[in-house]
Amino acid sequence: MKGILIKLIGGFFFVASPNKEIYQCRIRGKIREKIYPGDYVEIDKENKILEDYYSRKNLLKRPKVANVDQVVIMHSVKDPEFTPSLLDRFLLLVESSGFEPLIVINKIDQADPGFEKDFEEYKEAGYEVYFISVKENTNLKKLFDRLNNKINVLTGPSGSGKSSFLNKVIEDADLRTAAVSKKLKKGVHTTRMVELLSLPNQGWVADTPGFSSMAKVDFEIELDDLSWYFPEIAKYNNACKFNGCSHLHEPGCVVQQKVENGEISKRRYESYKQIYNEIKEKEIRY
Ligand code: GDP
Ligand code: ZN
Repeated sequence: MKGILIKLIGGFFFVASPNKEIYQCRIRGKIREKIYPGDYVEIDKENKILEDYYSRKNLLKRPKVANVDQVVIMHSVKDPEFTPSLLDRFLLLVESSGFEPLIVINKIDQADPGFEKDFEEYKEAGYEVYFISVKENTNLKKLFDRLNNKINVLTGPSGSGKSSFLNKVIEDADLRTAAVSKKLKKGVHTTRMVELLSLPNQGWVADTPGFSSMAKVDFEIELDDLSWYFPEIAKYNNACKFNGCSHLHEPGCVVQQKVENGEISKRRYESYKQIYNEIKEKEIRY
C-alpha cells in the first residue's frame, strides 16, 4: 500500500494511508537514503514494514519536509502590525527557494474596516490572499479547503499566529480521533523531529514553521535572478529594450512604464529596488 510518512520516532515510521489510518512501521534494512515526513512510501500493512520509498519532488531543508506543495506565509493585520516590506521578503524567500507561496493574513478580528485594500497589490501581483481569524474561526474552513490534498508548511514573522493555528489543527484532529490533546509547547526549542499534522480534509501541515531565518535573502540571491521572484515584474522581464534590464534606470524599460501608469504597485517596486541595492552592496563588499 502507498502511504505518506508523517513522523519518525525511535526507529518507528508512522505512515498514513490515503484515508488517514496510521501504521506504525519498522523499516526494511535495505533502504539507505534518509526519508522524511512528506515522503511517499510503500508499506506492507499486514507486517507493518516500510518497504520502499518514491522519489520526491523537493525537500525543505529546515525543518526537513519532503514534497512540499505550498508554503503558507502567515502575517497578521495587527500585533504585530502588518509590514508589507516584510511580507515581500518572505515571498522572496519562498519564491527563490522554489516553493509556492500562499498569503494568509490573520487576526482580522482586530482589523479596521476596509483593511483588505492594503492587500490588493499582492492580488494584482498574482498572489492569493486569505483573510482569517484563528481566534474567531473566521474563514478557517475556506483556508482548509485551499490546503486540501497538499503538504503545507507555515512560515511568517513571530507573533502572527502560527502556533495558534497549529494548535487549532491539533484540537480539530483530536476531536476527530477523540485522542488526548497535546498542545504545542511554545518557545521551547527541543530537537524534536517535524511531524505532519492532519488537516480536517486530505491535507497535511508541518507542525514546525519553516524558513525561520530571513538571513538568506541578503546573500543567497543573485542580482540577475531577483526580478524573476517578483511575479508582476518577471512578467515583463523579456519585454524591456535591454536584455537583462535591471528595471532601475534603463531607457525603454517596460517595468518602469508599468510602475508609472500604476499597473505595477509602486510600493512593491520600491521593495524590489531596496532589495536589489542591498544585494548589490553585499556583492561589492565581497
Ligand atoms: P506565532 O509566534 O506566529 O506562533 O504566534 P502565536 O500563535 O503565538 O500568537 C501570538 C499571539 O497572537 C497570541 O497571544 C495569540 O493568542 C494571538 N492570536 C493568534 N491568532 C489570533 C487571532 O486570530 N486574533 C487575535 N486577536 N489574536 C490572535
Ligand atoms: Zn526593464
